[in-house]
Amino acid sequence: TVAARRILVTGGAGFIGSAVVREIIGHTPHSVLVVDKLTYAGNLDSLAPVADDPRYSFIRADIVDAPLMNEIFAAFRPDIVMHLAAESHVDRSIDGPGEFIRTNVVGTFTLLQAALGFWRSLTEPQQSAFRFHHISTDEVFGSLGDEGFFAETTAYSPNSPYSASKASSDHLVNAWRHTYQLPTIISNCSNNYGPYHFPEKLIPLTIINALEGKPLPVYGAGANIRDWLFVEDHARALLTVATQGAVGQSYCIGGHNEKSNLDVVHAICALVDELAPDPAIGRRAGLITFVTDRPGHDLRYAIDPGKIAVELGWRPRETFESGLRQTVEWYLENRAWWDRIRSGVYRGERLGVVA
Ligand code: NAD
Repeated sequence: TVAARRILVTGGAGFIGSAVVREIIGHTPHSVLVVDKLTYAGNLDSLAPVADDPRYSFIRADIVDAPLMNEIFAAFRPDIVMHLAAESHVDRSIDGPGEFIRTNVVGTFTLLQAALGFWRSLTEPQQSAFRFHHISTDEVFGSLGDEGFFAETTAYSPNSPYSASKASSDHLVNAWRHTYQLPTIISNCSNNYGPYHFPEKLIPLTIINALEGKPLPVYGAGANIRDWLFVEDHARALLTVATQGAVGQSYCIGGHNEKSNLDVVHAICALVDELAPDPAIGRRAGLITFVTDRPGHDLRYAIDPGKIAVELGWRPRETFESGLRQTVEWYLENRAWWDRIRSGVYRGERLGVVA
């Protein structure tokens, strides 16, 4: 039996955070407090499946608010912090980097300070058992050429305002462990996809536009390669890292699913043609439209997940094919979820390019 822990999840109303919370409440004895500002990316609808569970609670709060973070730590008294709150969309970081510095850098600093103050107030054995798990991205490593993989030993070389802000936060986390002995762990994951993914990202955007017969925008020639992981596999990996990972370590998380963006879009077209045929639209691949490439677009990301497999026994359950099929089915069955997001919030923004 697993001892019940108290887990503070920042960003728990986001795409990955909500998957983590659904995993915790659905498959463990632990309790959760979600701390989330509910920016455009935060959505309580994604937590509806756990909303009535007595082990789940929610507070709307900005991680940059230091007094409030101190209060939350003192009141909830977490055993584990899983820090996912972040600005996460690369295109938005190019158009407006300020929020990325504020939330990802200053917010992580604020949370580390609150965690440190709380941790110092603990006595043994709680102090040794405490974990601050910082959730990060493989984008901190920069771009790969045709060969090789990112691993825990790869040097940091971030290229976008987003990845630079995440790299900064990783460095802060390491400094707080090294300097103040706060028991931290970092994980760096490749691109996630799956249910409840905000429709500005490649996979949900393509599914929705394909369903509606709208153009399917692909950056450049669609040759950029990402290593895709089903979000529920990531959520299980994160829980494994938070509860079994070793202090001071980092873990690279990925599923060996390297695909070019064009291959991803073609795979979605085939699935939507099969699951939602529409004679008025015809074959969805005909909707693919190449658009001007993202500035500074990293060519290739790929993860070597050997360490988490060997040391913690985590392996993904889904292949890209099985995960993508589940994802397309989810968007077909949950139109209300994405219709609500699209109504108004997005008009006039980058998504407008393809609307
Ligand atoms: P998301 O954008 O879907 O969710 C982010 C959440 O953080 C939202 O609920 C938002 O309301 C909240 N938030 C933003 N600013 C906040 C603030 N100042 N205070 C409190 N809450 C705030 O992001 P995601 O895709 O779920 O990513 C979660 C984490 O995982 C991020 O740290 C991201 O860098 C990392 N990550 C994402 C991916 C991916 O493919 N999506 C891959 C690897 C790592």
